[in-house]
Amino acid sequence: MEYSKKDIKIELPEDVRFIIGKLGAAGHEAYAVGGCIRDSLLKRKPDDWDITTNALPREVKACFKRTVDTGIEHGTVTVILKDKKNGGLSGYEVTTYRIDGEYKDGRHPEGVTFTPSLREDLKRRDFTVNAMAYNDEAGLVDEFEGISDLNAKVIRCVGDPDERFDEDALRILRAVRFAAQLGFVIDKDTEAAILRHAENLKNVSKERIQTELTKLLCSANPYMIKDVKRLSMGPYICKGFENTDIESFCEAAKGLGLKAVSVKERHVRYGLLLAGADKKSARGFLRELKLDNDTINSASVLAENLLRPVKADRYEIKKLTQKIGRGLMGELLELKKKLFEGGVSSYMKACSESIEEVKYIYDDIEAHNEPIFLKELAVKGADLIALGENEGPRIGKTLSDMLEEVLKHPENNEKSYLINKFFL
Ligand code: ATP
Ligand code: MG
Repeated sequence: MEYSKKDIKIELPEDVRFIIGKLGAAGHEAYAVGGCIRDSLLKRKPDDWDITTNALPREVKACFKRTVDTGIEHGTVTVILKDKKNGGLSGYEVTTYRIDGEYKDGRHPEGVTFTPSLREDLKRRDFTVNAMAYNDEAGLVDEFEGISDLNAKVIRCVGDPDERFDEDALRILRAVRFAAQLGFVIDKDTEAAILRHAENLKNVSKERIQTELTKLLCSANPYMIKDVKRLSMGPYICKGFENTDIESFCEAAKGLGLKAVSVKERHVRYGLLLAGADKKSARGFLRELKLDNDTINSASVLAENLLRPVKADRYEIKKLTQKIGRGLMGELLELKKKLFEGGVSSYMKACSESIEEVKYIYDDIEAHNEPIFLKELAVKGADLIALGENEGPRIGKTLSDMLEEVLKHPENNEKSYLINKFFL
């Protein structure tokens, strides 16, 4: 599809029109800007709508009833609006036009200067496709050929790529992330500058790196992580990155036909990336990237088990479920089945299991609600205490003996039977 600047109309959400209108009525300029404009033009659903304005933060705050000082020193105020229909609250980041200083610590720009010029604000942005602004009155403001790069499906730095990567090396990884999300290629000059600056990524915080890597992995083209390696960023992602089997991951991503998913599914993507790694190194990798504990736990369980065969044996399947939990067991078997169906070679080599049979047995166990966890045992600790047992480790031992019995014979999950056999 071709985009021309003249007749471009973007359907702004009502809240965004309200914020722009309110700032306008107070004599300020305001535009929706960045990712939301890029995504609207691509007919993708924007994640969030950011607004840029010449109003200073205190002037923004004066226009609205409820605001939060999100990053007021960088010019960002979040405007909170109430949804008329359901009363829920939504936040919109409104940022004053600014010129960024250098990102000395690789985290935040040092010394932000506010500017009255929209062009200057667009100029500080990373890529041409991210540097467009829109409001209903002015139409599309595209000072750096963002539209033409959208048409050509190219990620290109605004201005001189060497300078832009010198200011903030995270942009190197962002280039690959956006290419993967949008299915674009990186412009030649931008790519050459990436190679010259890849090492600068070492000054960027792991949190920022992880945010971009997670978005890349959850994108429609996660196999484009091979560009992270090809463009020499590997050693600066985290210590274990160079040991990951990127080729196998890329093959799996294609074999599984992975689509874009919400970052809530990140554990699955990290699990696949680290498939075959032992638990300790998987956890080390995820911890270094400052992932949250839930993701560290679930991704490392998947990594450890994806290429480890599961015996088609009812008891063994229950023991594994006990160890990793029902939710993950379901996900693990589903993934294994897809790896099998996709004929993914790392899986085919490592797993001789009959995954269909394993899955059939697991589904049957679940369909019959067979007990697997202590909380599903017909006898509780309190029952034993009521029968005269003293509180202490013996209770735990008795209950776990009982659970072993019902794992093998679910029909015996019956209070009087178990108490007779194991207690009296
Ligand atoms: P997403 O859909 O992932 O949120 P996005 O384009 O909104 O994509 P953000 O990281 O939310 O990306 O940043 C919002 C906008 O701010 C970008 O579109 C870009 O204009 C600008 N921006 C963000 N980070 C940088 C950076 N490190 N250097 C320059 N500009 C940046
Ligand atoms: Mg965004």
